[in-house]
Amino acid sequence: MPEGLRRLPIRRQHQAVEFAVLSPCVVIVALWLWSKTRPGGWEVTLPQALSQVLSLIAIQLFAIVLVIAARSRGIERIYGGLDKGYRTHGKLAKVAFGLMLAHPVLLVPHYLATGQPVPALFWFADFWPRNVGVASWYLFIGFVGLTLWRKVDYQHWLVSHRVLGVPFVLAGVHAVAAASDVRAFEPLRFWVVFWVVLGTACWLYKLFLYERLARRYAYRVESVEEKGGGILDLRLAPDGARMSYEPGEFAFLSVQGRADVSPEQHPFSLASDPARRGLRFGVRQTGDYTKSLSRLRPGDRVDVFGPYGEFTSYNFDSARRQVWIAGGIGVTPFLSMLQHESHTEDGKRLTLVYSVKSRAQAVYAEELEALVAMEPAIDLVLHFSDDEGFLTGERLVALTDQPETTLFLMCGPGPMMKGLRRQLLGLGLKPHQIDFEEFDFV
Ligand SMILES: Cc1cc2nc3c(=O)[nH]c(=O)nc-3n(C[C@H](O)[C@H](O)[C@H](O)COP(=O)(O)OP(=O)(O)OC[C@H]3O[C@@H](n4cnc5c(N)ncnc54)[C@H](O)[C@@H]3O)c2cc1C
Repeated sequence: MPEGLRRLPIRRQHQAVEFAVLSPCVVIVALWLWSKTRPGGWEVTLPQALSQVLSLIAIQLFAIVLVIAARSRGIERIYGGLDKGYRTHGKLAKVAFGLMLAHPVLLVPHYLATGQPVPALFWFADFWPRNVGVASWYLFIGFVGLTLWRKVDYQHWLVSHRVLGVPFVLAGVHAVAAASDVRAFEPLRFWVVFWVVLGTACWLYKLFLYERLARRYAYRVESVEEKGGGILDLRLAPDGARMSYEPGEFAFLSVQGRADVSPEQHPFSLASDPARRGLRFGVRQTGDYTKSLSRLRPGDRVDVFGPYGEFTSYNFDSARRQVWIAGGIGVTPFLSMLQHESHTEDGKRLTLVYSVKSRAQAVYAEELEALVAMEPAIDLVLHFSDDEGFLTGERLVALTDQPETTLFLMCGPGPMMKGLRRQLLGLGLKPHQIDFEEFDFV
């Protein structure tokens, strides 16, 4: 395998994620086992021991979940971009939630065996550390359970995430204050307190300080153009310092001072050439917020938070042969990357496949054709799925004469990316030859 592919960060990202998640869990379990070496440490039944260790892992995972959500640039790097970080965040939250639920349930056999009333496990008593734990348990069920196991809309999902820190803090207090190994054994107590404080700090930062302290740039609307096919082309000009970014990154937009457009933050890929002063976004109008953006007028203020993301030309620079697959509005990061690559003149071979339902939906086709016309090393393939059916892995592999060293980058609807990834792997490609950008955090 050539040097270029070996130096790709994708494989390292998988390892980094595993390390970032597993190593604190291994430490907390090791410290718990160490705590058991104290005299009388093992005087517990198996369900009790399981209940203890699983609840510690749950606290550890929830702390990591809150750290990811703080949108730190360093943390984002570990998780392969904020979009993938949020995916990991969702998976970890599910596991942690399950473990948290199991904590009192696993104690039921012990209560039955010792003749204690089982309902007491799930209700308040005259011992405050227990009550804090019970309150935390019910709050977790209320806030997280609802959002994880029922399809709620994004705004409710967001609210549940804002309050997630409350049951987490209560669970941490319960672990430290209850008559437990955490309270009795200093190294374990130190580790748990450290992660509870870190998780709480990240939660409070995101809740109260992010808007003030995060990288935020003031921009003004330059133009808003309906491009057809439900797509809006939004151009912004800096109103002061401009944001520098890498091609393929994304930012959160927050419209200011318009009663008819919400100031809530929404992520969009930067479709512009990073060498230029202005920013450009291609917005597919799917819901209330994106539809409301057509009300923007030149001069309106838009705050831009970012940049974020690891799906950038710089990270993929070492792969000399690349096939890019854009599904619909997933073309936006490639617009930026294409403009960047047209300056680099470093001899990379690129093929961009722009897949849409029909010619009418290919709103960026003309612009892409004009860009690639000047670049002999870049090819454009337009794919209309109404006429040709869905794109297939075979079709993509046939586009390159060196499939085993080609990097395949995708951005588009989730099912399309999943399906193509599975097909490409089935054709013998390695996981580190495929990367993608997700347009959805949930
Ligand atoms: C990294 C990234 C890059 C993106 N780039 C683009 C782009 O270049 N062009 C484009 O058209 N779209 C892009 N999106 C998607 C865009 O953010 C959503 O379509 C938009 O926020 C939907 O808002 P809505 O209320 O109009 O639609 P709705 O129909 O209400 O929401 C559709 C879905 O979008 C997601 N969503 C809604 N609100 C938010 C929010 N505040 N933050 C995050 N996700 C949300 C939810 O999963 C929701 O189910 C990107 C998303 C991500 C995560």
